[in-house]
Amino acid sequence: RLLPVGLLLALLGGGATFRLVCQRQSLGGELQGALRRQELQVYYQPIVHLASRRYVGAEALMRWQRPDGSLTSPEQFIPLAESTGQIRAITDFLLQEVLEQLGDLLRSHPELYISINLSACDVSAPRIGALTGRLLARHGVRPEQIAFEVTERGLIDLQAASRNLAALRARGHRVLIDDFGTGYSSLAYLQTLPVDCLKIDKAFVDALGADAASSGVAPHIVRMARALRLKVIAEGIEREEQARLLDSEGADYGQGWLFAPALSASAFRELIGGGQPAAPLSPVPSGRRQ
Ligand code: C2E
Ligand code: MG
Ligand code: MG
Ligand code: MG
Repeated sequence: RLLPVGLLLALLGGGATFRLVCQRQSLGGELQGALRRQELQVYYQPIVHLASRRYVGAEALMRWQRPDGSLTSPEQFIPLAESTGQIRAITDFLLQEVLEQLGDLLRSHPELYISINLSACDVSAPRIGALTGRLLARHGVRPEQIAFEVTERGLIDLQAASRNLAALRARGHRVLIDDFGTGYSSLAYLQTLPVDCLKIDKAFVDALGADAASSGVAPHIVRMARALRLKVIAEGIEREEQARLLDSEGADYGQGWLFAPALSASAFRELIGGGQPAAPLSPVPSGRRQ
C-alpha cells in the first residue's frame, strides 16, 4: 500500500524538480545570450567614510537588464551562473568593464577604490590575480584601488582560499569579508585568514535603532573587528540614526541608500567629480570617541 503513495510522491516531486531544472536551464541559456548581447551592466554603489562622509570608493554590482527593460536581480542570476560555471566569464567581464569605465577616474583619484565581489570558484582558483594585474597595467591603475569581497560561502575550500587571498594581498589588493555574520563560518577562521576588513551585513544594520535601547549585534562585530585590527564597513544603511550609531560605535565606513544607491558609471563619475560629501553631516554631534 505504501508503494503507490511513495511512487506518486516521487513522480510529483520529480515533476517539480523537472520544471525547476527547465526554468534554470532556460535562464542559463538566456544568461549566455545576455553576456553576448551586452545586457549585463556594472553599477557602482558609493562607499563613504562615516566620520567625514567623504566618498572612498564604490562596490561594483552586476545588473541584468533585458531589451524589454525588465531587470533580473543578481540574487537570482549570480547563483545560477555559479552553478553553471558562467560566473567566470561574468567576473572577467566585470573586471574589464570596471577598468574600462573607471580607469580615468581611478587614475585621477588615486585615493578611490572599487570593490569586486568574488564567488567561491573565483576564490578557489588563482586566475583572478593575474587577470587583474594585466588589466591594471594596461590602464595604469594601482592595485590598492581594487579590493575583493568574499562571502563566508566563498570559503568552502579554506586552504585554497587562504592561499589565493594571500596572493591577492601580496599584489597589493585589499580583501574584505562580505555579509559578515550570515554564513556558517566559525570565528576561528578570522584569525588565520588574510583579510583587511569586515562588511557588516544589512541584517545587523537593520536591527540598529529599531529599538533605541538595544542596538543588537552590530556594535559587537565592530568591537571584535577592532580587536583583530580589521576595518569595518556597514552595508545597507538607510537611516541617518544608523549611520550616526555605527560611527559612534567605531565603524569606519558605510554603504547604503542613505548615501547613494548603485549608480551607472557616468552617474558615479559625476558624483565624484562634483566633490560633494554624501548626505550632509547633521549638526548633531556624533559622539565619536577618539
Ligand atoms: P552584496 O555584495 O552584499 O551587495 C549589497 C547588496 O545590497 C546590493 O544588492 C545592493 O544594491 C544592496 N543594498 C545596498 N544598500 C542598500 C540599502 O540601503 N537598502 C537595501 N535594501 N539594499 C541595499 P544587489 O546589487 O541586488 O546584489 C545582491 C548580491 O548579488 C550582492 O550582495 C552580491 O552577493 C551579489 N552580486 C552582485 N553583483 C555581483 C558580481 O558581480 N559578482 C558576484 N560574485 N556577486 C555579485
Ligand atoms: Mg558585496
Ligand atoms: Mg554585502
Ligand atoms: Mg549583504
